Amino acid sequence: MSHPRLNLYDLTREALREQFRRWGFSPLHADRLWAYLYLELADSCDAMPKLPAKVKARLRAETRFGLLATARETDSSDGFTRKYLLALADGEKIETVLMRYTGRVTACVSSQVGCAMGCVFCATGQMGYTRHLTPGEIVAQAMHVARALKFQIPILKSQANPEAFHALREMPPRLRNIVLMGMGEPLHNYDAVMQAVDILRDSNGLALSAERITLSTVGVVPGILRLAAEKRSVGLAVSLHAATQAERVALVPAAKKWPLDELMAACRTYSTTTGRRIFYEWTLIEGKNDAPEQARAVGRLLEGLPAQVNLIPLNPTPGYAGEPTRSEAAKKFQKILAEEFKLPSTVRQRRGIDIAAGCGQLAVGET
Ligand code: SAH
Ligand code: SF4
Repeated sequence: MSHPRLNLYDLTREALREQFRRWGFSPLHADRLWAYLYLELADSCDAMPKLPAKVKARLRAETRFGLLATARETDSSDGFTRKYLLALADGEKIETVLMRYTGRVTACVSSQVGCAMGCVFCATGQMGYTRHLTPGEIVAQAMHVARALKFQIPILKSQANPEAFHALREMPPRLRNIVLMGMGEPLHNYDAVMQAVDILRDSNGLALSAERITLSTVGVVPGILRLAAEKRSVGLAVSLHAATQAERVALVPAAKKWPLDELMAACRTYSTTTGRRIFYEWTLIEGKNDAPEQARAVGRLLEGLPAQVNLIPLNPTPGYAGEPTRSEAAKKFQKILAEEFKLPSTVRQRRGIDIAAGCGQLAVGET
């Protein structure tokens, strides 16, 4: 039986050094390989003059560079968002989104193929759960975007929008922001996600700062407590969507398992232990969770906590009929949070909706 090849992106720098020791090579070569992988963004052994031939021969025989093939890529009509459909080694597919804002680029990466949590308004939830991603498959998505930026692979196909064109010319060529808000529930795949975060943060590699990696959870209580106990250097966003248990269960079935009071207790523990603020996400659905009393209920729930609310007007998905809250009502909601509860909030910029790359629209299907 042949051994599956070792995916280099699965390894932390320490694990790579360990592997080199086992092969009888100096860990210094591991550090060199690490720099080729994460500073030069190399995709093969061919351009690695600083590695001895015997090391390269071993790498060629037993390892692989876990870059993912692009099955499809789509640009939004405004030119700010690019969505990649990426093929995994076993034929499964995932989506990764590159979002450009003026002076800033963010990669939105997936943590699972599908999702087991079944939130009613989410396209990923609607497709069900297939499997966890490995650390290397999570890292590979960031590398895909980092390489696209560095080697100017995408830039812009349609330059119809002058604002986008201008922003892109000013765009930094390095990836600095990652959100784990693509397909899947990151805290359902805790170990792989944290290993990927460690790899992305490594100071001799991509060196992403802790403030610029944010994971969003549906509210997996044990995962939040573990993040707190381990004092993980990663930003946390919690998908709230409703401020009472009954309303929340109707949107987020996982709330049956992790009820709102337990979730809020875990969030309090997290903020006390880490000293960090949490982002609370609220998908605004017209007539469902956007009334002034509901804004006041969130205000009371979060009062006194270090919190910021991210309001996300509902994006359309095939399996859910709701409509997004209109901008006037969203502003009113924000105003109540600000004036009555001193609670900061933002309305998430709509990005990539026309190519189904917005929040909750990622699924491997027809789009
Ligand atoms: N599984 C994680 C992260 C992925 S989703 C989580 O649920 O938090 C990122 C955010 O988009 C979540 O807050 C999610 O609830 C929200 N979302 C899902 N479907 C959406 C939709 N159709 N419109 C707007 N936001 C949506
Ligand atoms: Fe899963 Fe998040 Fe979608 Fe809910 S919103 S189904 S947790 S990906």
